[in-house]
Amino acid sequence: MTQLPVLNLSGNATATTSDGRRPTLPPRHLADLDLAGRRAAVADLGEPAFRAGQVSAHYFGRLVRDAEAMTDLPARTRAAITEALLPPLLEPVSELATDNGATRKTLWRLHDGSLVESVLMGYPDRVTVCVSSQAGCGMACPFCATGQAGLTRNLSTAEIVDQVVWFAGLAARGALPGCPDRLSRVVFMGMGEPLANYNRVIAAVRRLTEPAPEGLGLSQRHITVSTVGLVPAMRRLTQEGLSVTLALSLHAPDDDLRDTLVPVNQRWKVAEVLDAAFEYAARTGRRVSIEYAMIRDVNDHPWRADLLGRLLSGRLAHVNLIPLNPTPGSKWDASPKPVEREFVRRLRAAGVPTTVRDTRGREIDGACGQLAASGGGKVGEREGGLLARRANEETQ
Ligand code: SAH
Repeated sequence: MTQLPVLNLSGNATATTSDGRRPTLPPRHLADLDLAGRRAAVADLGEPAFRAGQVSAHYFGRLVRDAEAMTDLPARTRAAITEALLPPLLEPVSELATDNGATRKTLWRLHDGSLVESVLMGYPDRVTVCVSSQAGCGMACPFCATGQAGLTRNLSTAEIVDQVVWFAGLAARGALPGCPDRLSRVVFMGMGEPLANYNRVIAAVRRLTEPAPEGLGLSQRHITVSTVGLVPAMRRLTQEGLSVTLALSLHAPDDDLRDTLVPVNQRWKVAEVLDAAFEYAARTGRRVSIEYAMIRDVNDHPWRADLLGRLLSGRLAHVNLIPLNPTPGSKWDASPKPVEREFVRRLRAAGVPTTVRDTRGREIDGACGQLAASGGGKVGEREGGLLARRANEETQ
């Protein structure tokens, strides 16, 4: 009998933070509140309500995160506004860059010492940020580095939004060579299981997509929420009236294998999880993205491609194959390229649109499944080295 990983679905974290403290949610921040809530918070300070709009326009419209830089606020109110609406949430601990600065990974320390990472990816036509929704993750997928340490805690709405606003500010300052200066896409594919932190993630999506000064004004279609397949939460998402892209981390078309690769499958089986994904597609008209890490001799067999093809044929879905990224201590490798090509061929022959994801960020452990918040290096310390090494490689 196969030994299956033990799964903690309660959402109760057991870990402590990086410095041994008990994990706690951060103080309230303006991005936790809608505009009405921000007005009420400002009124509590004895300030006129319009200040809420001013502060929000700075934060979401001009990507200014520091009240001291909001020079149209009276100097005497800035400290109180900081305390009530702009407490610092993310302290950068290290920043790594590659691809000539077009891919950047930042490790943040949160107010309680929890560590999370986000990755920025610049392309000629778009800038995407991959955000974390939890510190750690409780889903225990054995091939994913984040899953190995367990869950520390959920992130607050503002801790999620602030990752995006920080990077949007970086892009706006022209930090990404050869890329647009407007950050346009957000993928919830960093640390954590977004649908296990449902309310805060949905509030973050709303804040990211409402027009300024209420929010950041991104298009819902340019936001991707990825899940291991928490079926009740997927059904709830279907009812939200949002048109975000849903990604489902399937990784195996059969229950025997998926029970081990994505332990939550022990609770919600392949047929049920696909059904929930198809319902989302039917309700929103948005094609769902089926994520499938290609693991040598584990899930890359031709018969599995054929089975996946049968499950998805004629559905509003496409497959995104991810060559397995290396993680510490893992016994698994990526599938050889010819095996990957055959897998793609069979899926396409079944009429299923299929792409292979690039492995952006691998050399800085910033690719899918590599985020583990292990620390190391001060801000900028390793960046120069990496950039220099990269430049060398390119001239050789
Ligand atoms: N918990 C959510 C969000 C994380 S998204 C989810 O699982 O969907 C990160 C994606 O990268 C998921 O599809 C995940 O299964 C995949 N992944 C994890 N470890 C990986 C690895 N080592 N190589 C390639 N992809 C990996």
